[in-house]
This record gives sequence, C-alpha cells and structure tokens, in this order.
Amino acid sequence: MKIIDVELIPYNVRRRYATQIAQEGGGAREVVEASPFLFIRATTDTGHMGWGEISDIEPDEVPEVDAWREQVAAALVDRNPVDIARHHADWAKTFPDPPGIGGSSLNRLTRAGLDMVCYDLVSHATSTPVCRLLGGEWRDRIHISWVAFIRDDLQLLREEIAEKCAEGFTAFKLKVGVDIDLDEQRLAVMRETAGPEASIKIDPNGGWDQDQAVTNIGRLARFDLDGVETPVGGRDPAEIAVVRREVDVRLIEHVSTPVDALEYIRHESLDVFNIATTGCGGIFQARQIAQMAETAGVGLLLGSTVEMGPGTLAQVQLAASIRGLTLASDLVGPGLYAEDVLTKPPTYVDGCLEVPRTIGFGAGITL
Ligand SMILES: [Mg+2]
Repeated sequence: MKIIDVELIPYNVRRRYATQIAQEGGGAREVVEASPFLFIRATTDTGHMGWGEISDIEPDEVPEVDAWREQVAAALVDRNPVDIARHHADWAKTFPDPPGIGGSSLNRLTRAGLDMVCYDLVSHATSTPVCRLLGGEWRDRIHISWVAFIRDDLQLLREEIAEKCAEGFTAFKLKVGVDIDLDEQRLAVMRETAGPEASIKIDPNGGWDQDQAVTNIGRLARFDLDGVETPVGGRDPAEIAVVRREVDVRLIEHVSTPVDALEYIRHESLDVFNIATTGCGGIFQARQIAQMAETAGVGLLLGSTVEMGPGTLAQVQLAASIRGLTLASDLVGPGLYAEDVLTKPPTYVDGCLEVPRTIGFGAGITL
C-alpha cells in the first residue's frame, strides 16, 4: 500500500463563545472567536482514504494553502503508511520543532496531521481501531475536564459551570493568570458551583513568574486544586522544580518531545505530563512520551490545542491506549466549536468521551 494522492482542505470554525487565556510572561492573549484548520485527505493505490487534521493553527502561522499542500504531499506521496517510525524521522527534518522547550508551531501541528493520516490508513487497511494498533485499550471512556476560559463576568461563569455539571461533568479546568484577584473570585465561583467533590485544575498558561507562581498557588490552594498547569512562563524544568518544592499542589506541564520529557524527569519538575497528539507532533511520539512518564512514575493526562471531531477521535484513541491517566483530560473541542466536519461528532456522556469501536477517524466526514 502506498499513498498516491494528497489534498489539503482549509476549514474555519467559530467557537460557541469567544475565549481568552493568559499570555506567557504576563498579560492576556487576543480573544479567539474562530480557529483555522487544514484537513489532509490522502488516497492510496489500494483505494483507501485517510484523514488528518492540522488543528487550531495560530492566526499568524496560517500558511498559503497551495504551497503547504505541496509540502504535505511531498511528505506522504509514495510512502507506505505502515512505516510510521521512518516517516517521523524524515518529517522531523522537513517540519522541525521550534527551538527551545515546549511551544506549539505549524510544523508540529502538521506532523500531527501527517501521523493521523498514517494511523487512519493503517486502521482502514487492517479493519482495526487505532487504539488496538497502539497495544490495545485500557479503558472504554475518557474522563474529560470542562475548560472554562477567562471571562470577567462571574455570572456567566456560574451559568457555564452549572450547565456543565447538569450535563454530567465532574472535572473542570479554569484558565487563570491575568488578574489574581479576579482569578480568586472566579475559582470561588467554580468551586461553589461544581461542589466539593469536583476535580478542579487551574492553568495560568505561563502568565506567572517563579515568585508569582509560588505566591499565587499558595493563595489559591484553599480551593482544593487537583493541579496547576504551566505555572511559569518559559517552561524551564529547573524553575518549575523550584516551584514544585514550594507548593502543595500537583504541577502539570505540556511535554512535546522525548528530550523535554527527559529534562522534566531529571529535574523532578512535574507530577503530571500533559501530552496530546497535536502537542507532541502525533500519536507516535505522544506514545513514546507516555511510556517515559509511566516508567518514571509521573502522571499523565491528555491536553488539547482544541481539536475538531477527527482530531478529538485521534486523541481519544491515544488516551484509550495509555494505562495510567492520572487526571481528567482536556478534550473539549466538540463542546467548544459551533459545528464539526463529522456528521456524528464525539459527544459527552457523564463528562466522558466514549472510545468508539469504529475504524479510523474520518467516518462520516463531510468535507
Ligand atoms: Mg495548557
């Protein structure tokens, strides 16, 4: 089997409401009302069709479609999707990571899309759900934390959390990091509305420095936090390790590469790795990082760049294949976007996403 044809289809999707998060290093990022996506459709000489999603691209990184299609096609055409390790070794050169630790990039999102295409095609060619290609499933549903973004209207937050509790969500993540006084009020609203049993994480998105992280986490810890994600800007393993020794709350960070994972393990910086198909440049590398975390005794959850249906299904298949998921995962795309490219997008039941027994990621895609 080899790939003979590749299309790249742009798709812009609106969010149900405008979202905002903290800016790394302080302040707030631009409000997001819609997200640009690129969908990869690959066809093989055996007549199989595979889909990949390049998810939620930063507005200043959206490429010219024809030029990017050429690059994506060059990365896939004439390749057998089964040889995924070899493909990743090549893609690391043609779509390299940005320098430094962490950080998303169009290149990494593109590698995640290429990786999705390969797993989707192998799934179809072998009539096997992707989680079974990854060693088999450990669970049939994935516990999801609803993500509440920064809004200064406390009543809107109260209504949002009450609505999600009524839908069955028991885990939440609150975006914080711009205004600590407001954060404290918002966290009080979330805890009061969600109840004492709810699992609550906070995520300042690197909006604090080391001293602020220690002070602010100490101040907010009374709301019984299950974790703090990206507590400091820069994601430096040594700096996060200092914060970790000073606070009594689990620390979580996005981990994008095995090299980064090794650094966080060496410095004992983290209690939980946040991994994602998108954030790790595909399922293949995310699985490697998951294995490192499990071996080192570090917890895991699935993070998100906010994927649409096919990208969320890829994440769900990955999540099903991971033995130890420590905290609820942040796969809220299908709840956040106003529409989907799947006729039957993933739906939340009792605050969980079920692991479908379907083949691949693109069943019922409408593109
Ligand atoms: Mg995050």
